[in-house]
This record gives sequence, C-alpha cells and structure tokens, in this order.
Amino acid sequence: MILDGKALRKRILGNLAGEVAAFTEATGVTPCLATVLVGGDPASAVYVRSKRRACERVGMTSRHLPLPGDTTQAQLEALVDELNADPKVHGILVQLPLPAGMDSDTVLNRIDPHKDVDGFHPSNVGLLALKKARFVPCTPAGVMRLLEESGIDPKGKMATVVGRSAIVGLPAALLLTHAHATVTITHSRTPKDELEAAVRRADILVVAVGRPHFVPGEWVKEGAVVIDVGINRLDPAPGEETGRLVGDVDFEAAESRAGWITPVPGGVGPMTIAMLMSNTLVAARALTQ
Ligand code: NDP
Repeated sequence: MILDGKALRKRILGNLAGEVAAFTEATGVTPCLATVLVGGDPASAVYVRSKRRACERVGMTSRHLPLPGDTTQAQLEALVDELNADPKVHGILVQLPLPAGMDSDTVLNRIDPHKDVDGFHPSNVGLLALKKARFVPCTPAGVMRLLEESGIDPKGKMATVVGRSAIVGLPAALLLTHAHATVTITHSRTPKDELEAAVRRADILVVAVGRPHFVPGEWVKEGAVVIDVGINRLDPAPGEETGRLVGDVDFEAAESRAGWITPVPGGVGPMTIAMLMSNTLVAARALTQ
C-alpha cells in the first residue's frame, strides 16, 4: 500500500482552511508566516514557494523576505529581531541551508520560540524531548501523521530510524519512542552489518540519510512500514533535462516486500508543508489570547 502524502496533504489543508477561516472570523487576526530566504539556492527557492502557496491555500498570509547572498550575519539577525517584535507575524521560517560562512544555529536560536514554527529552537527541542511539544518539527510530524492517518500504531513495534539529524532523524526517533515503539537509531558510525540487521528487524523503518537508494529493497522486512524521507536528484538520463527525484530506499525493490511505503516524491515532502501550516495556526492561536 502506498502512503500517499499528496492526497493526505490535500485533506489536511482543506481542514486547515476551515479552521483558519473560523479563527480569523472569531479574532479578526489572519495567521501570518514570514519566510526568510538568503541567497539564490534554486532548491531552497522552490521549497519556499511551495510553503507560500500552501499559506494561500489555507487562507494565511505569507510575508516573503528574500535577502541577497552577501547578507551579513548581523543583518539577518536584525531581521529576525524585527519579525520577533512584529505582532502581525506569528510564524518565522528561515530557510536552510544558509550560505556558507553563516552560523545557522545562532540565527535559529534567536527566533522567538513562540514563533518557531519549524520547532528548531533549543527550548522547543527540549519540550519535544519531554513529550510537551509546543511545535513538533514539520518533517517528523508529517511522518507520524502519515502513520496515524493510515491506522498504523507504533505501539509495541520495532522501529529503526536511519539518520540522526536534529531536524529529521532524532526527532522522528523521539516521537516513535513517545508512541511506544522500541527504537533503534543508526547513523554514519553504525557498523554496516548492524545497520543491515537493524533495518531487517524493523516493523517501521524511517530513512533520512540523503543518499539515493541507500537502503536495498531486500533488507526490508516483509510487511514493514517504510517511510522514505530522502529527496535526491539523480543526474539526468540521456534525453532528460533534469534528473529524476528518488528517495533513500530502493523503492522498486522494496515495494514488493513492504506492507506500506512512501513514494518519492509525493510521500513525506507534501506532509512537511502541511505540518508547517498546522504549526503556524497553532502559533497564531497561542499568540492571540
Ligand atoms: P543530514 O545530512 O543532516 O543527516 C543525514 C544523516 O544520515 C546523519 O545523521 C548521518 O549520520 C546519516 N548517515 C550518513 N551516512 C550514513 C550511513 N552510511 N549509514 C547510516 N547513516 C548515515 O540530512 P537530513 O536529515 O537533513 O536529511 C536527510 C534526507 O532527507 C535528505 O535527502 C534531505 O533532502 C531529506 N529531507 C526531506 C525532507 C522532506 O520534507 N521530505 C525534509 C528534510 C530533509 P551522522 O549523524 O553520523 O553524520
């Protein structure tokens, strides 16, 4: 069975549009997401555009703040301060990666935790770890929502998360632990045979590495739930203008073994954006009391 993030996103955004309309009607406030994009990275520009389009779809405002690639750290931090102080802005998203030489941690730490709709601020990470999340980071939140909406309960299951980044792997492992799965986290220092063993025993497999076809299909346990977070662009094949997007799992080989599997594209990616919209409404509600 395909875990169809695109279809689910449509449903979630539809519901959110109703909630946003009711909120605005009751309070006179339109939720607003500020998107900050530094430099001209084309992939980042595409992501920001999708996020702004989603705002439009649910009736939120997006305020776009593009900055040139030679922006200084101090200028970016001053902009964050301004957005923190602006009562019309409820969510602040600084698109990563920042240009080389910029310190993203300092910037993210400067965002008001109550407007940190990405959930990357240390105080929000702490709340998440303690199971008292204010904002769950959007990608792992999307992973959990995909499971929930498909009737997949992690309780008592063996889960393996490949990758331990602060924005995907680690929070995904925390959320699965909170949902009562028994979780193994693997990373670049995990010996190859242990990585394979951990994948092979996983009832729920979440892969967030960033390498095309990193997990061979034959490692996937029969009937497992496979959540492929990776987004990798292959080199263009002869006759193609741009290369295909593929995940971290060899989808063609894994599909026949998995019980459930996310496609790439169309699985986790759309869910990330839906969860960002949901977090922005949470922020607007909390800041409008
Ligand atoms: P990072 O590069 O931050 O993290 C990659 C992780 O993979 C690290 O923890 C790294 O381990 C681990 N890793 C690297 N090599 C191996 C290995 N040989 N065996 C096991 N683990 C390994 O990437 P992100 O987490 O930010 O993103 C991962 C992928 O997900 C990317 O393709 C990205 O594009 C995609 N992504 C998709 C999103 C979506 O909305 N669908 C959102 C965010 C990301 P170590 O910590 O030891 O270095």
